Amino acid sequence: MKKNARLLYLLTVWTFFIPFFSIASSRLADDETPAAASPSVTYVLSMPEPQTHYFEVEMQLKNMATATNAKKNGYIDIKMPVWTPGSYLIREYARNVQGFTATTGGKPLKSEKISKNTWRITTPASTDDNLTIRYRVYANELTVRTSFVDADHGYVTPASMFMYHDALRNIPLRVVVQPYKTWKNVATALEPVAGQTFTYEATDFDLLVDSPIEIGNHHTFTFTASNVPHSVAMFGEVDYDEKRLAADYKRVCEAAATVIGEHPCKHYTFIVHHIPSGGGGLEHLNSTTLETSRNAYATEANYKGFLTLVAHEYFHLWNVKRIRPVALGPFNYEAENYTHMLWLSEGGTSFYEDYILRRAGFHTPETYLNIVGIDITNIENQPGSRVQSAAESSWDAWIKEYRPNENSANTTISYYSKGSVLGTLLNLAILAGSNGERSLDDLMRFLYAEYYKKQKRGFADEEFRQAAEQIAGRSLDDFFTIGVNSAEPINYNTYFEPVGLRLVNVAGKTQDGFLGAATTVSNGKATIASVRRGSGAYTGGLNVGDEIISVDSVRVGDDLLRLIGGRRAGETIKVLVNRGGFLREIPVTLTQNPLASYRLEPLPNVSPAQKALYNKWLFIK
Ligand SMILES: [Zn+2]
Repeated sequence: MKKNARLLYLLTVWTFFIPFFSIASSRLADDETPAAASPSVTYVLSMPEPQTHYFEVEMQLKNMATATNAKKNGYIDIKMPVWTPGSYLIREYARNVQGFTATTGGKPLKSEKISKNTWRITTPASTDDNLTIRYRVYANELTVRTSFVDADHGYVTPASMFMYHDALRNIPLRVVVQPYKTWKNVATALEPVAGQTFTYEATDFDLLVDSPIEIGNHHTFTFTASNVPHSVAMFGEVDYDEKRLAADYKRVCEAAATVIGEHPCKHYTFIVHHIPSGGGGLEHLNSTTLETSRNAYATEANYKGFLTLVAHEYFHLWNVKRIRPVALGPFNYEAENYTHMLWLSEGGTSFYEDYILRRAGFHTPETYLNIVGIDITNIENQPGSRVQSAAESSWDAWIKEYRPNENSANTTISYYSKGSVLGTLLNLAILAGSNGERSLDDLMRFLYAEYYKKQKRGFADEEFRQAAEQIAGRSLDDFFTIGVNSAEPINYNTYFEPVGLRLVNVAGKTQDGFLGAATTVSNGKATIASVRRGSGAYTGGLNVGDEIISVDSVRVGDDLLRLIGGRRAGETIKVLVNRGGFLREIPVTLTQNPLASYRLEPLPNVSPAQKALYNKWLFIK
């Protein structure tokens, strides 16, 4: 994926430097002769006072003067990434950096910040060819996209920890981890350097950024899946059945690997953080970090949810890390990297998380159909699905998906949820178009073989569409024009009919009134948290933040729904609210309940061909 770009880069560097040497070598200083050893970068990472939440980084640049043009320019610029791949938000990691210094031959060099994430180090002619940079990073946010250290353990998101020089991004880099004195373990997918404790190597800065590091006294267990060794680093006190867990990881991983049919990793590392509540994950080239509740293994439902997360992040090792849109690597670490295709890279992975669990036998066909129905219900019930397309949602991830506000449900649709439904529809379109000969798996296999392995690059939007139509053996105009690129309603039944199913709204029509304001209740006060576009609350003018005092003169606490309960659609109620300290009485006309509840049902007369395609779709033998 990155190899081709790296080669091109080196070519550019050399065509620049070779003439420079041949013309100017007679006036070069001794330490800048063309025969100089190749440049190297080593990061020494330590955490002598973990309880203070600080990591200390020493970045050693050796033989750097030529590659960085240090003497010619009189300075070098060292940068901190502003975001980390897979999490599409500018996070400004430089805000946690303190105490930046640079020395050469033990003597300090002047440095100043010239932008939010760039330090310019003055490198006068007397500068040694070697340079040492030191800084500290405050790390007190334990998520999969930030760094953290405390008295119990350390976790490094490399984009938030390691600085780089533009000209040194494509050379091998080393990381020496010096764990806190009582810590014995390091988990990372970086390659260990033989014979050197906790010393690792990355072929380039991209790989370093893509290899998080867990440091502490975590327990590790291992298993083999698809002939690839896997290790799981378990942080946090938690009860689990290791034998069962290892066996189920293996089942999930092997089912995921059958999609592409080739496992590109030499080894794979799971880093799992067990936290009080919540969860999530971030994918990397040869590893992933999962965050899950300490109750993840306590009930079957939680456990299934955890395996879904495993399937999602693991499948990313193909989809997005190797099968990728052109914008997603090599990365610009200093700005947003825009793509219309997160609906495929993220939403397609959300589709596969359940499809993999169905394939591995964790979901029954009925459970899987229920999940599809719920996914469709969720997007159709969100007013924003009639405003924003999946392609627009992908493009605006940086400012919308990752920065939601109280109006987001009215104006946006998640590329995860819409993309997951689109994955289902594309899979069905390919199955139907090829009479069951091919599925979405074949499209993913084609993209992997053609763009990752052969062309070693990402694909453009149009190349993806061409590939999809080629695999489906027919035009997918409706899928792309309506499904991907518009916010128009999708005619779902044209996709489900070939497998003998139809989508039915089972919500049922009632004349009950619908307000359209969701409230949170605290200390007996009901405050509006969101207002649904098109509802009575919306057109009547109830605002987010209004405290609802009464409805038709009856005091409201946590019983708003009960008070509205008996009213009919079309009725007007008087809502008294406290808005910023002033009381307002607002007439609101209730509407019909617009919320749908979709379910997939068999068509009345299913033909053998439909049944065969259904079985093929759901892996029924
Ligand atoms: Zn994902």
